[in-house]
Amino acid sequence: MIDITIIGGGVIGCLIGRELSRFQVKTLLVEKDSDVANGTTKANSAIVHAGFDCKPGTLKGKFNVEGNAMYDRICGELSVPFKRNGSLVVAFSEEELPELHSLEKKGKQNGVPGLELLSGDEVRRKEPRLSKTIVEALYAPTGGIVAPWDLAIAAAENAMDNGMELRLDTEVVNIERIEGGYRLLTAKGDAIETRVAINCAGLYSDHIHNMVAEPCFKIIPRRGEYFVLDKSEGNHVSHTIFQCPTPNGKGILISPSVHGNLIVGPNAEQVENPDHVETTAAGLNAVREAATKSSPDVAYAAVITSFAGLRSTPDTGDFIIGEAKGAPGFFDVAGIESPGLTSAPAIAVHVARLVRSFFGNLTFKTDFNPVRRPVVHFSQLPNEAKAARIKKDPRFGRIVCRCERITEGEIVDAIHRNAGATTVDGIKRRLRPGMGRCQGGFCGPRVVEILARELHIPMTEVRKDRPASVLLTGVTKMGAGG
Ligand SMILES: Cc1cc2nc3c(=O)[nH]c(=O)nc-3n(C[C@H](O)[C@H](O)[C@H](O)COP(=O)(O)OP(=O)(O)OC[C@H]3O[C@@H](n4cnc5c(N)ncnc54)[C@H](O)[C@@H]3O)c2cc1C
Repeated sequence: MIDITIIGGGVIGCLIGRELSRFQVKTLLVEKDSDVANGTTKANSAIVHAGFDCKPGTLKGKFNVEGNAMYDRICGELSVPFKRNGSLVVAFSEEELPELHSLEKKGKQNGVPGLELLSGDEVRRKEPRLSKTIVEALYAPTGGIVAPWDLAIAAAENAMDNGMELRLDTEVVNIERIEGGYRLLTAKGDAIETRVAINCAGLYSDHIHNMVAEPCFKIIPRRGEYFVLDKSEGNHVSHTIFQCPTPNGKGILISPSVHGNLIVGPNAEQVENPDHVETTAAGLNAVREAATKSSPDVAYAAVITSFAGLRSTPDTGDFIIGEAKGAPGFFDVAGIESPGLTSAPAIAVHVARLVRSFFGNLTFKTDFNPVRRPVVHFSQLPNEAKAARIKKDPRFGRIVCRCERITEGEIVDAIHRNAGATTVDGIKRRLRPGMGRCQGGFCGPRVVEILARELHIPMTEVRKDRPASVLLTGVTKMGAGG
């Protein structure tokens, strides 16, 4: 029997897996998709929030501030790009000032350091491209930006380096109680017996909970749509620019990304289906219109893609974290909507403590290594280091993605690491081929070839992303005589 099974490989499940890999227990993470970080974790604003807008006394307020403070260390250990660029919430009229000042008050109650109110002119001195109509802003120096999928992938890899097992393409479809634990039935028809189960299934966490305990919360998916702009617009602002929040959420933001692009969004729209991640013309128009209020001259001609993510909004109003009533050893980590990414490192430590006390105690491994083997970003190496790398492995001399300057050597490494890529989008998330200006037009076919070769599968079995998303169906052109 496995000691602990984590259901769901988003940023929450992966970081919990990493925390638990510090202990001498057998931990398994099961993920229904072909990669970790394939749910909400791959499609959000990527902001490490300072923590001024959560209601004081809530789990969101507590874990946001605690999680934010952990980012420098955790991203350092895991080699994940993170920048404390600071954030500004802007107010456009005297009517919005009470809301702005209440954010400052809540922030202070939550323990957010360094908050400062700035006049409209002070704001424009920091950010010259912002609107002249801004009258005041709340500045939070601890706000940051991160690559969310990188964090989840790196955490899963580091957890595996420390002994965690990962099973991809493994969907839990039912759970039975057994003597001393639970039997998880999977869509493949097999069963996993485990003493402890941790529900990190994001948009599906209410379904998973209801398999073992009385229903007590419901997840309402809320879609948010975004534009991503080319790196030519990446310096439009240097801070993350929020508007005053509305009952629907934190409102539309404009922010640089850690990779040097500009991101604009999201709107907020309730949807029925937890898989509806398509963008809409109406949603994107609303995003653009609202963002123009903050900065009137964003060059939307430089948009390179758009995307949507779904918030796992719980009907309880706060994160749901703890042992489910009447189900000993079954822990919910559910309803982790924003600021879930920011809170994730602190939630992981908290859940590991809960699990440890369930077992009575757990022994620390003496050889736990928190540091992930760094990823080589070839284009960022000095010339001598590049030459040495190519001499050692000529695959680093072959550029596959011209937009982001990614080499074959980096792609091969991303496939063969623990929690390695198995799909075209898996490579894209780890290294960025396909995220540049051409959006994969040039490198896509070459990435398919490399995946097929390294995974020893035919090209017709290489998937874009989810199960059944094959890119090629067969031969379309035969050579001479074919
Ligand atoms: C529009 C938007 C903007 C956001 N912006 C921010 C932000 O700027 N800052 C911030 O802090 N937070 C933000 N968030 C919130 C943040 O993205 C989430 O809190 C976080 O990604 C949640 O991670 P998770 O691991 O709980 O969920 P997910 O990433 O969805 O992971 C759940 C995983 O469970 C798997 N799963 C589901 N069912 C099963 C099953 N039956 N068997 C096996 N596996 C299963 C799924 O495939 C998925 O991989 C935003 C969210 C959205 C949608």
